[in-house]
Amino acid sequence: MIKRVKRECPHCSQQFTPKTVTSVYCTEKCCKKAYQKRKSEEKKELRRQALIAKIPVDKTFITVPEAVLIFDIAKTTVYRLIKNKRVPSVNEGSRLIRVDREALEKMFPLSTNPKMEKVSTNPFVYDLAKENCYTIGEIAQKFQLHDTSVYKHIRKYSIPTRQIGNCVYAPKSEIDKLYNGIID
Ligand SMILES: [Zn+2]
Repeated sequence: MIKRVKRECPHCSQQFTPKTVTSVYCTEKCCKKAYQKRKSEEKKELRRQALIAKIPVDKTFITVPEAVLIFDIAKTTVYRLIKNKRVPSVNEGSRLIRVDREALEKMFPLSTNPKMEKVSTNPFVYDLAKENCYTIGEIAQKFQLHDTSVYKHIRKYSIPTRQIGNCVYAPKSEIDKLYNGIID
């Protein structure tokens, strides 16, 4: 016996009863709006990536604006980290502060989606073994979502993740629960 449970619309946050197993948004309107939002975010992300591509990969000390671009963090965050000596920096004159890229990479691990920031991990509660996890790409494909939406939901619902190489993994059980909203 399958019971359909209420789900939260990722766009407007309203609770709704899904019409089908794959219903993600409460209404057609929300679906369209979410799509437009996704498209504009994608454009923004493309512009960002194009700017990042211009920064030489072997540049070990980067400028504050470059750090903001690469790690998608606030300028104030970078300055705070420099001030608190959490990341090595060099000052080649006023407005010429450079920060250690590697130190920032350790603090803000880059994933397939650099927008991803900290996500809670609790290996004691969740099984994060590779075979019990989906990659973000697999989730996007299975539930017909865009990668950025998947990341957003993972953050919103504090689903634990694990990064191996370039792939981010999330437990199948939690993801299925989130998108299916179905209890056997
Ligand atoms: Zn909605």
